[in-house]
Amino acid sequence: MRRKVDEKLDALLAFVLPPQCTLCGADGDRRLPLCTDCRADLPWLGHACRLCAEPLPLSSVCGRCLRRAPPQHAAHAAFHYAPPLDRLVQGLKFGGRLGLARLTGALLAEAARNGQWPRPQALMPVPLHDARLRQRGYDQAQVLTREVGRRLSIPVESHRCRRQRHTAPQSGLAPAQRRRNLRGAFDVSPLLALDHVAIVDDVMTTGATVGALATALKRAGVARVDVWALCRAGR
Ligand SMILES: [Zn+2]
Ligand SMILES: [Zn+2]
Repeated sequence: MRRKVDEKLDALLAFVLPPQCTLCGADGDRRLPLCTDCRADLPWLGHACRLCAEPLPLSSVCGRCLRRAPPQHAAHAAFHYAPPLDRLVQGLKFGGRLGLARLTGALLAEAARNGQWPRPQALMPVPLHDARLRQRGYDQAQVLTREVGRRLSIPVESHRCRRQRHTAPQSGLAPAQRRRNLRGAFDVSPLLALDHVAIVDDVMTTGATVGALATALKRAGVARVDVWALCRAGR
């Protein structure tokens, strides 16, 4: 209820006065709280690996994916995980700021549109563990995914997948340990009506988490799983 009221108020304010740029405070444009200069400076991701979105000099497949193909069919990312995206993502994660979800969601939707990322039948956020969700009280992946879905008119599937166990933090683990840590982490109810789903994530690093979810989705009957990430961090 409160969120609905907030959204209406935001829309009204954006109509009456151009929103301020989230990054520098200058006037934004009518559609987004971002000014032209800051927008031009964003670290858009250029050529990358088709399977894991790792930046490459040409769009092809990286050595790592050639040696061991990831479970997803394709991976796309909008940005390098670099300033100011790191700041926006941190704000999204811990600040609980709905405006940031709207901004980052709009940018991810724009990247998908401009890059002609193949259109899935549904988008799916990486589910947070319930305990983590309760602690934070806010699921940034879900809010981001809903914004992308709204802008591209793609339905969001988030109820049929749960995080099954509380996994240890991934940082500091080697790739094989990461995969083991995540085995059985997601519980997906059958999704037989869907052939093509894209997982939406804020930052893709090694791809172990989205890979585990992609595997679970494929087991649940989804033929093709892609990954759409807002940012791609270096490994
Ligand atoms: Zn600005
Ligand atoms: Zn790759």
